[in-house]
Amino acid sequence: MTQPLLDVRGIAKFYGARIGCADVSFDLWPGEVMGIVGESGSGKSTLLNCIAGHLEPDAGEVFFDTRVDGMKDTLLMSEPERRILSRTDWAFVHQNARDGLRMIVSAGGNVGERLMAVGARHYGDIRARAIDWLGRVEISESRIDDRPTAFSGGMQQRLQIARNLVTGPRLVFMDEPTGGLDVSVQARLLDLLRSLVREMGLSAIIVTHDLAVVRLLADRLMVMKDGRVVEAGLTDQVLDDPQHAYTQLLVSSVLQV
Ligand code: ADP
Ligand code: MG
Repeated sequence: MTQPLLDVRGIAKFYGARIGCADVSFDLWPGEVMGIVGESGSGKSTLLNCIAGHLEPDAGEVFFDTRVDGMKDTLLMSEPERRILSRTDWAFVHQNARDGLRMIVSAGGNVGERLMAVGARHYGDIRARAIDWLGRVEISESRIDDRPTAFSGGMQQRLQIARNLVTGPRLVFMDEPTGGLDVSVQARLLDLLRSLVREMGLSAIIVTHDLAVVRLLADRLMVMKDGRVVEAGLTDQVLDDPQHAYTQLLVSSVLQV
């Protein structure tokens, strides 16, 4: 490994005069999980969406180690080129499963159509892989023809994860993957995510306001405040020995996040 999978440089995004995020740079190595933490409004989602190509930043570069051409600035790619990247090498898990699922398509279809998008054609094979992935996210095969509208919030989120991981993406973006769920449901999902991250050796960027999520999943952390990174480092190091006053507040749970 001589170069990172992702090299983010000087990302900035403003909403009029309001700062979304500014001057954010970091790299991500294959098999690494980067956590981005900070209270609500600190710019986490803005940053993630700029990197993932959902938002156009005002400044910065996002280099990704593409299979064919090596390091390439994804922000300079053509629309079709970026679409292919989003469908093959990249995956995005939304906080709200409804934003990442097709609610009128069956559970099996939600997983299967991702395989078809990357070229799978054989029906039996697609169905078998869909069943395998439903099992991996603890959804019974008997629910394969049900629509996600019939699922609980936790199940919908697990289905969204299956839909996103079935194609074996090289980089996964997650925005508050356990947000908006009951605490017991969160714990189960977190457990599942941890197993998947380990088994698959996933490279991921995970945005969360929940330090328990990064404690379990992230190798490294960036702490954001008012759109800027105020502290970064190895997860254990940052959480056990925070240097910045804001991180100290965050860790001591004084801040309402
Ligand atoms: P986080 O994900 O950490 O809660 P966001 O990235 O959503 O933070 O927001 C960062 C800042 O940008 C906040 O001040 C927020 O109010 C502002 N912001 C986010 N989205 C928009 C938008 N579409 N229009 C205007 N301001 C926005
Ligand atoms: Mg957010």
